[in-house]
Formats: sequence, structure tokens, C-alpha cells
Amino acid sequence: MQDVAIIGGGLVGLCAALVLQHPQRRVAIIEATEPGQPQQQGLNARSLALSASSVQIFRALGIWPQIEASAAPIRHIHVSSRGRWGVTRLEAADYDLDALGYVIENGALSRCLRQAVEACDNINVEDGAEFESIAQDETVTVEYRQHQREHRLEARLALIADGASSRAREALGVGHQCVDYGQSVVICNADFSAPKIDTAYERFTPQGPLAMLPLGGKRYACVWTLDPQQAAQVMTLADPEFGARLQDCFGFRLGLLERIGARFSAPIVRTSAERLQQGRCLLVGNAANALHPVAGQSFNLSLRDIACLYELLIDQNLASLDGDHIASIAGEYESLRAREQRQVIRYGDGLVMLFSNELPLFDHVRAAALGMLDLLPALKTQAAFAGMGLTFGGNRLLRGHL
Ligand SMILES: Cc1cc2nc3c(=O)[nH]c(=O)nc-3n(C[C@H](O)[C@H](O)[C@H](O)COP(=O)(O)OP(=O)(O)OC[C@H]3O[C@@H](n4cnc5c(N)ncnc54)[C@H](O)[C@@H]3O)c2cc1C
Repeated sequence: MQDVAIIGGGLVGLCAALVLQHPQRRVAIIEATEPGQPQQQGLNARSLALSASSVQIFRALGIWPQIEASAAPIRHIHVSSRGRWGVTRLEAADYDLDALGYVIENGALSRCLRQAVEACDNINVEDGAEFESIAQDETVTVEYRQHQREHRLEARLALIADGASSRAREALGVGHQCVDYGQSVVICNADFSAPKIDTAYERFTPQGPLAMLPLGGKRYACVWTLDPQQAAQVMTLADPEFGARLQDCFGFRLGLLERIGARFSAPIVRTSAERLQQGRCLLVGNAANALHPVAGQSFNLSLRDIACLYELLIDQNLASLDGDHIASIAGEYESLRAREQRQVIRYGDGLVMLFSNELPLFDHVRAAALGMLDLLPALKTQAAFAGMGLTFGGNRLLRGHL
């Protein structure tokens, strides 16, 4: 009998295992891919902006030094609107912080998390294991197929972390809402001739936002939102033509664009589960909420969800609780997390609406909004703290200790 079964060993599933494990708990992860195999072709080459709240959680877990070694700090954020005067700047020093956040390639973060998981005797990872079914009575029974054979495991609590098109969510009968933003994202890494090593840029254009995130040295991670036709068209261009289009859109704040890495594109769809809980099963990560990348929040929000679950389970010996008691803890988790999740979704949708609208009026409104934000320190501080994930009250992990 496992205490916790986690379906999906992506970034969120691995983090959940590290947070929820302790010497008296057995945790199993069921992951469809084999070790080293990219989870999502191409998109796995992308990067994440880690918020200050996520850094605190990694510190509490004792794995921040390993992650920090592969991450680049963001000490300044420059937000602008293409062709308009409105600019706002956020500075880590204004908030007495060493960094507002960090950028890391997904692959590097995944390797650090996987090493940490493998160092824990009480976490068992079943690789190459495809989820098949889930049933609940006094315990949760999960069936999966691994190396042509059927397996089953029993657990007291299950976390569903198998991504935005979660099969486990469907098997539990939990519906989801899809919002198609009518946009696609183009992702690539790029080298610039005059890098500003610890500065991130968010540039709003009529077609959608363009983020340039520092990866260290000359390298930046580019997340470019376009309408689907434009995205398809820039994907067909040869590197020099693509580079010229990107440079024209971003400008010369980092000098000349010298080199472009492999490019990937995908449509942007927000997926939100209708519920976070079904009996003794909880939805986390993209299976619960896959958000627009504009605000860089999905993963950071998921880590704060898991930190909340840690707090609820910290003093609990799952083996001594009956099924109803575990289901009531799961219900408490849902009610504690629903409010922040709604706020983060509204914040992202508001940004998309304000900054992706081609109507001329919106052009002036967004320029004015950025200018105002720069002039109103209290508002700017509130926006900065929301972005860093530090406005939603603390628990132990968010304060940086277990
Ligand atoms: C362009 C872009 C930029 C982003 N930038 C940021 C950012 O700056 N900050 C931020 O916080 N977030 C960001 N995000 C969001 C972030 O990438 C996701 O929140 C995060 O990767 C979700 O991880 P996950 O583990 O929930 O899901 P996934 O990464 O989808 O992992 C799901 C796992 O489940 C496994 N699985 C799937 N089906 C099965 C099955 N049937 N059986 C067993 N296993 C299965 C998969 O193999 C995979 O390992 C960005 C997203 C995009 C697209």
C-alpha cells in the first residue's frame, strides 16, 4: 500500500513527490515516458521563469543550490508597449531582494528534480508506465501498463499530475473548460550582441506579448505570442528572415540578434478543471490549470498549491486515517486553493485582453497603464508581489523552511 500515488512525473509530479514525502510515507510516481525521453517533443526545450515563491519552496526542500547552479537571476524587469511611450520597470533592489525571480530551462530543472527524487528511498518512480484506470473505495486503486504488462497499485491519496489533456482527470469524470485565446506561441533561444545579463523584457505588441528572459551570457529565452497565421508563417522562415522579424518586433535593447536556436510553436489554450478534488484524488499542475504563458504563472501557482497540501498533511499519518477523513482533507485543500487560482486566472486573462487587442483605443490604454504603473509605487509594488507569488499569505514552505 502506498500513501500517495502521483499520476504523471513531469515537473509538477516530481515536485509534489519531494514535498509530500517523509520517512513514514511511501510515494509512487507513474510516468509514461522513460528516463531521459523528452516529455513533450520540442516544447521541453523551453524555459520557465521561477517566481520568488517557488525559490522559497525549493530552498525549504534543500534543493535550491542545485537548481540555482543552472538558473539565471532576474534583477530587473522592463515592460514596454511597442511604438508607445509607456514603460514600467521593476527592480529587485526596490524590494530588498537579490532577485525578482530566476529563469531555467525545463530540461535542467527536470534533471535536478529527478536527481532529488532518486535520492529519496521512499519515492518509487515507475517509468514507461501508462495510466489506464482509477477507482476509489476505502483506498484509491490505479491500474497502469508498463512494458506490455498490466499493473495495479493501491494508495491512500492520489495526485493527478498528467498534464493539460489528463486521462486520469477524464477517468475520474472531472470536466474541464477550454479557452482558446486564438493565439499561438513561438519559442526559441536567441543570442544577442549586447546582453543585459539579469534583465527580463516583456514587450506588448498588437499581435500579442513578446517575452525575452535571460538565460545567462548572451542567451535569452524568447516566448513570442502571435496570431496563429502569423505564427505559422514565421515558422516557415529561414533563420536570417525569422531573426529580422523578431528583431523588428523586439527592437535593439539587447543589441543585434546574433543566433537563433531551434523554434517550436503551439496554440495557446487555457485548460481549467471544473473541480480540484474527487474523493481522495486531487488535481495539480496542468491537469488542474494550464494557463496562458503571458504571466509565467502555471508552474509557480502549482508549487504554491502543493505547498498548501504540505501544510494540510504535515502532521497527518495517512495510514491511520480512514477514507472519509482523507477525502475531507482533500476537500479543505480545494476550498483553500480555489480563490488564488481564480485570481491568477483573472490576472492572466486581463493581461491577455489588455495587451493583445488591436483596437487603437486599447493601444492608448495599455501605454497609459504602463506609464501609470511606473508612477504609482504602491500599485507597482502590489503588481510585483503578485507576480512573485508573495501576496497570498504564507505557509511554512513559502517562508523557506519545512
Ligand atoms: C511557452 C510556455 C512558457 C511557460 N512559461 C512559464 C513560466 O515562465 N512560469 C511558469 O510558472 N509556468 C510557465 N509555463 C507553464 C509550465 O510549463 C507548466 O505549468 C508546467 O510545465 C506543467 O507541468 P505538469 O507537470 O503539470 O504537466 P506536464 O509537463 O504536461 O507533465 C505531465 C506528465 O505526465 C505524464 N503523463 C501524461 N499522460 C500520462 C499517462 N497516461 N500515464 C502516465 N503519465 C502520463 C507526461 O509524460 C508528463 O511527464 C509555460 C508554459 C508554456 C507553454
